[in-house]
Order: sequence, then structure tokens, then C-alpha cells
Amino acid sequence: MRFTDLNPHGGIGANCCLCESNGFRFAIDSGLHPKFAGSESLPKHGEIERNSLDFIVLTHCHLDHLGSLPLLSRQNPDAPVFLTYGSSVLSRRMLSNSISVMKRQRRELNIPELPLYGRGDLSSLYSRMKPLSSESPLTIEKEGRSLELTLNHAGHVAGAASLTIKSKEERSFFTGDLLFNDQRTLAGAKPPLEPVDVLVTETTRGATARDPSRQRENEVVDLIATIGKTIRKGGSALIPVFALGRMQEMLVTLEEAFRRKAIPKVPVFCSGLGMDLVNHFHEISKNSKTLRFSRKVLKLIGARPLPRKLQPGRELPMQGIYLVSSGMMVEHTPSYILASSMLGNDRNSILFVGYCDPSTPGGALLTTQPGQDFEFEAIQWREKVRARIRQFDLSGHADREELLRLAEKLCPKTIILHHGDPAARSWFEESLQDSEARIIDPEPLKTYEI
Ligand SMILES: [Zn+2]
Repeated sequence: MRFTDLNPHGGIGANCCLCESNGFRFAIDSGLHPKFAGSESLPKHGEIERNSLDFIVLTHCHLDHLGSLPLLSRQNPDAPVFLTYGSSVLSRRMLSNSISVMKRQRRELNIPELPLYGRGDLSSLYSRMKPLSSESPLTIEKEGRSLELTLNHAGHVAGAASLTIKSKEERSFFTGDLLFNDQRTLAGAKPPLEPVDVLVTETTRGATARDPSRQRENEVVDLIATIGKTIRKGGSALIPVFALGRMQEMLVTLEEAFRRKAIPKVPVFCSGLGMDLVNHFHEISKNSKTLRFSRKVLKLIGARPLPRKLQPGRELPMQGIYLVSSGMMVEHTPSYILASSMLGNDRNSILFVGYCDPSTPGGALLTTQPGQDFEFEAIQWREKVRARIRQFDLSGHADREELLRLAEKLCPKTIILHHGDPAARSWFEESLQDSEARIIDPEPLKTYEI
């Protein structure tokens, strides 16, 4: 196999891998780097000769995997795009939202090249999408050679898949973003355990040790108790979430908590994209066995859209639970604006339920001590930290030890470390030292012969 990581910044960002196996050329994912805008946020598609791909695989619909797929597909119009049914449903809403975000960035950041693609590119992409059932191999033939590819349920988010590639010569497994634990709405991953030649593994949590007393289920219990306490003392809870996946998981968790009376009944406010995606989750759940979700949950908890004009720093219009994006409290998003209104009141709580990059406002808030000032630079607002700030370990990614155990079971000859920051990859490299496999931490844009 030949492997090239086309994410020019390394770490986690504009995910896109170029692979060659048994004479077939294919790309896995094509994302946008969340910390950049415009062409800087793109993978290096220029390394792929125009219309040279035999196929493209999309593992799931988070924008760091999906966001630049319309461009890669436009440059490779003959390549079918293989994905799960769930991803074929979700990608439509995510990509049309991505166009709206790019149009806004064009105005706000003055980047004339935005949007990078338009509605016409999306229609062309959809016509190239070929949904595959999970765990059902597909054989592709070309010039007397064949390659078998299988999407394996990956648990991470609705529609997420790992990928098995098999030829006469070799067998490879690409984890994609992977979660073994069951979630409220989604079963965990059960990857095939047949030995492989090449394992490309995500390493997201390589630098994060899980405290044994903080298993996923305890974290949910602790989160509910903290929301309950906040509401009982007259405060509001802000839960910054990713619109895709975490929002819907939290809706179901809150519905259970209201039903058990663990949280007093208060309004739940949700931001737009996450509310829309509820309908897509409902549709997927109706048509596939892996997702358990009904749009009824919105009615059951009395969810309502956010008030239209939120004023930075102003008192909240109503006590409640605010379930809004972005998960890392990125500038100008509803969670950022709401935090500026809630931070100065000691009855409120700001509760993170996923990873926060240290360079984002969410990451910065998590390291600010109570009583210190916190700067909302984008809106020129400063507030003392009086609200309760907590982070709960409900990551959508497998623990590092679980991924090590998977690597052991698959007995690979080569392990490629992927989708992780440098510190995370280093932990894996060190921990795999005694394994017989060749370990590769690929440099961006360098091709490895395996
Ligand atoms: Zn993801």
C-alpha cells in the first residue's frame, strides 16, 4: 500500500488520506480545518492528479472529514463516493450549512474566495454518492484486478464507519473516528478482529488518560446531578455541544432526566442546526437499525429555539438549559455569546461535554480560575468567572488503552498513527514500542511505501 496524509497542518484538521492498493487509487475523507478559513482550511488536493481516483470513501459527517468533499469530488468526477446510508442523509444538511457559514465568513472575515463551493457542486456530489450497508463487502474490479471494501459500524456519531480494504496481497483497516462504548442513541463499534497487514488508527485521546473513577456512565450521572443543582438554586445551565451527534445525545439524556425528576422542569433552548438535524436523525433511525432516535424527544422536553437576538453580556431572557453550539465555545457562536451573559452569575453553570482545544475560548475558560477575569475578545467583553465551570468526559472517541488493545488483536505489520495531535501520537508511538509492527507517524504530504 502507499499512504499519503494530505492534511498539511498535521494533527487533527483537514482530514484526507490518499491511498493506493493493488493498483487502485482512493481517498478517505476530505475535511476542512476548523481553525482556518478559505483555502488555508483545505487538504492539499493538488497532490492528487485530476480525475485519477478510482473511488472516495467518507467515514462520517463531522466537517473535519466532510467539509471539502464537494471540491475533491468535483476534481474526480468519475470516482463514486462510498458512505453509509446515515452519512448520505446527514451530509446534505451539514454541507448546505457549510455554504452558509462560508458566506458569512466572506462578509465577516473579508475572504473573497468564499464560499469554496456552491449548491451546484453539492448536487453533483450527491449524484456520485453510493450508500453501502455496513458489514457488507463490495468488490470493485479494474483491469483484471479486484479490491474488496467494507464499511464497519464505528459508533462515533450517526452514520460513522471504519473501513476494511482487502486485496489478494493485503488487508488494511482504517478505524476512522471510533467509539466502542454504547451511547444513548447509538451502539458502540465492534470492529472485525481478523489480522491485518496495515492498521491506520485514530489517536485523538492519546494524550488523555481516563480517570478510572470517571467512566462514561458516572460522567452522565454527575452531569445530570450538576444540572439539577444549578436549576434548583435558580440558575441556568449552558451546555456547549457539537450540533451533529452530541446535541441529539444530550436531548435524549435530558428527556430521561426530566422523566426521572432528576432535573426540575425548565425550558430547554437549542440552536438551529442541531434542531434541524433532529429530523435527519429521526429519518435515519426509521430506516436503519444502528440509531435509536425519535424527533418526539423535542416535544417531550419542550425544546424551543433560542431567542432571536441574544445580547452579549446581557441577563438571560429566561431560566433554562441552553443546549447550543459550538462545543468549544468558538467566537461568535451561540455558546460564546450566551457564556458572556452567564459567566458573571454564581448561580449559573457552564458544562462542557466534549473535548475543547486549548486554543479555543472554551479551552481558555477551562483553565481560568474562579474569580479571575475572562476576556471575550471577539465582542470586547470582560467578565469575572463566577459561574460554575465543569468538563465531563463524554468523548465520542475511544480511550487510548482501548485502541491499543485493538492494535494488539489485529496483529498488524504496520501501524499508521492518524487523527491526533503530536503529543497524542507520541503516546501511541511509545506505548507500541514493544510491538512487532512498524510504527509510522506520517509527515504531512510525504508518501509512505508499506
Ligand atoms: Zn468525528
